[in-house]
Amino acid sequence: MKTLKHVEMEVIEAIIRKCDICYVGVVDGDLPYVLPMNFGYRDNTIYLHSAPVGRIIDILNKNNNICVTFSTDHELAYVSEEIACSYRMKSKSVIANGKVLFVEDMDEKRKCLNVLMEQYSDLKFEYRDPAVKNVKIWKVPIDQVSCKEFGAPHDKYRQDRALEELKKNNK
Ligand SMILES: Cc1cc2nc3c(=O)[nH]c(=O)nc-3n(C[C@H](O)[C@H](O)[C@H](O)COP(=O)(O)OP(=O)(O)OC[C@H]3O[C@@H](n4cnc5c(N)ncnc54)[C@H](O)[C@@H]3O)c2cc1C
Repeated sequence: MKTLKHVEMEVIEAIIRKCDICYVGVVDGDLPYVLPMNFGYRDNTIYLHSAPVGRIIDILNKNNNICVTFSTDHELAYVSEEIACSYRMKSKSVIANGKVLFVEDMDEKRKCLNVLMEQYSDLKFEYRDPAVKNVKIWKVPIDQVSCKEFGAPHDKYRQDRALEELKKNNK
């Protein structure tokens, strides 16, 4: 098994779409602060939503740089059950960096909420004004992204098939 680095956006997007949550890292002065959050993704942009107040909002108002990590397809694997260092967690992950832009326009907020909901449901939703006013919408155009697959098959044929499978799942 080996670690592959992926650069194709269709592979990266397929991994993001398979995740049900992401981990959002911010910088609180000298301290890192990482929160699990739900998300949406479209066109190289991550969408998040939160309460309008809280520690995370205070931090973002001072420093809007964030790092968002996605991880999926976790599968414990080992060469020998008795040998600890032969264990590994097969997985695929994406790390994205960007700056949070808060969306204030009501129509744009609704569009962002639709992107978020599309990650979790095929249904169409309507959002009432008070709910839209009370939610903080974060838009994060991705500035930098990296993607790794851990525990990929060594053999080139199986590796190509695994890549094809990922691309197919994204269609
Ligand atoms: C699977 C999952 C998905 C989530 N999705 C969303 C989402 O889409 N949007 C959203 O706004 N929130 C979501 N949450 C909650 C989110 O992780 C934060 O708790 C929330 O955003 C409030 O953050 P805050 O910094 O404003 O909290 P505050 O209430 O201001 O935090 C006060 C203190 O509570 C502690 N704290 C805060 N959050 C957590 C936590 N999750 N776990 C342990 N300690 C914590 C910290 O020590 C912090 O200093 C999700 C949580 C989980 C587990």
